[in-house]
Amino acid sequence: MKLNISGLLVHFPYDYIYPEQFSYMLELKRCLDAKGHCLLEMPSGTGKTISLLALIVAYMKANPSDVTKLIYCSRTIPEIEKVLEELKKLLKYYEDHVDGEPLKFVGLALSSRKNLCIHPEISREKDGKIVDGRCHSLVAPHVRERHAQGQENVQICDFFEAFDATGRDSYLPTGAYNLDDLKAIGRSKGFCPYFLTRWAIGQANIVAYSYHYLLDPKIADVVSKDLARNSVVVFDEAHNIDNICIDSMSVRISRKLLEKCQTSITVLEDEIKRLKEADSQRLRDEYSNLVEGLRHAQERRDNAVVLANPVLPDDVLQEAVPGGIRKGEHFVAFMKRLVEYLKTRLRVHHVVQESPAGFLTDISKRVCIDRKPLRFAAERLASLIRTLEISHANDFSPLTVISHFATLVSTYTKGFTIIIEPSDDKAPNVVNPVMHFRCLDASIAIRPVFERFQSVVITSGTLSPLDMYPRILDFHPVIMSSFTMTLARQCILPMIVAKGNDQVSE
Ligand code: SF4
Repeated sequence: MKLNISGLLVHFPYDYIYPEQFSYMLELKRCLDAKGHCLLEMPSGTGKTISLLALIVAYMKANPSDVTKLIYCSRTIPEIEKVLEELKKLLKYYEDHVDGEPLKFVGLALSSRKNLCIHPEISREKDGKIVDGRCHSLVAPHVRERHAQGQENVQICDFFEAFDATGRDSYLPTGAYNLDDLKAIGRSKGFCPYFLTRWAIGQANIVAYSYHYLLDPKIADVVSKDLARNSVVVFDEAHNIDNICIDSMSVRISRKLLEKCQTSITVLEDEIKRLKEADSQRLRDEYSNLVEGLRHAQERRDNAVVLANPVLPDDVLQEAVPGGIRKGEHFVAFMKRLVEYLKTRLRVHHVVQESPAGFLTDISKRVCIDRKPLRFAAERLASLIRTLEISHANDFSPLTVISHFATLVSTYTKGFTIIIEPSDDKAPNVVNPVMHFRCLDASIAIRPVFERFQSVVITSGTLSPLDMYPRILDFHPVIMSSFTMTLARQCILPMIVAKGNDQVSE
């Protein structure tokens, strides 16, 4: 059916529209016109997804230069797949019922390698981290270089090679693609679906993916940093978006993690030694590459080309890398000292709470580690791993966690706390100390999203009390509305429940 939403022609792929869906679209249209952010609450089961898609697609069609992309974030894979299902219906409706120029929209779902990999062996792995690590060991530039030089026993992934050779020249035809569709395209063309999808984000009009691709700074930096400013971002099912923001900026450090760091540090030391003998120039160039990388990040951020990464705040980019960690081996020694210090901090008999400022004072007093080199730890480690061309980047994830912790604890004096517990909640009598670096302010993770994009829509079935969200996420919505389900329709279905969720008869 055709709808007139305050002057905008909206095609809706169902024969009936609930009054609350109509009101929802009206408010959404006002928000897009105002180029601001909004909070919209409408109960589950009232057709929020199709209302959002129908309105925003119509808006993009009518105002192609005002809104170029819809980024639809949801929480789980089934929810993301549902968005694609509704989008397929909508695009089919346009194809069958709308005359004139066909709608040349591409919509796709993006997920992790674990859900998109088609490599016969790697796709069988159950753990996402293992899939990422094994994939990386086949596609890292130096691995491919060694393979090209004819070195024996160096494996590569044919799907990545095919994508790299011609995949970037191909465009997805108009349509909506869920994860299975993308895998089918990958298989038919011989391209890796994961890299093909990441590449196709640039060309797609509608992208549906998980919250983490925008909110988790480690992932957002890889996947989402080039998205256009005039995109509309929707966070669906956003009732606990604050928890996701908080989790994405929090770090948990256990004794086991610190022990794994020890192994990574030994590998780094060995690799530096090896490279010093084999190619000392590359090691010397490493520092200038790091500085160049930071400068480049600054420029791109100044020009608002990329999504800012809250782990790498602006002032870090403007400072010079401290002398004590410029050389690779000095930096590894620095990380070693940091890990040793953290081990001593885990020796507690009762719960300790500390502020980041207190932590910085203590670390400076006890092991002479200053705030400044800590701030650079995340970027410095990433640069060193790149230079050393270590293919199993996954092995370094514990050390990467520590480097993120170092950067965060030395950057944010407010909005974070440190809690050290002698044991885990689940087994209070077993000594298993854990340090929690906890973000207390959800607005830190989401701020770059509000600053970067023209309209951010926060929506869910339950957002009450509505006025709490602008305060905890620190933003100013142009629209805040709550719609209740109209009971004009037949919406009560009497059912007899014979079993509980434990499958036991009542
Ligand atoms: S490149 Fe793609 S197909 Fe190959 S291993 Fe990685 S994710 Fe799997």
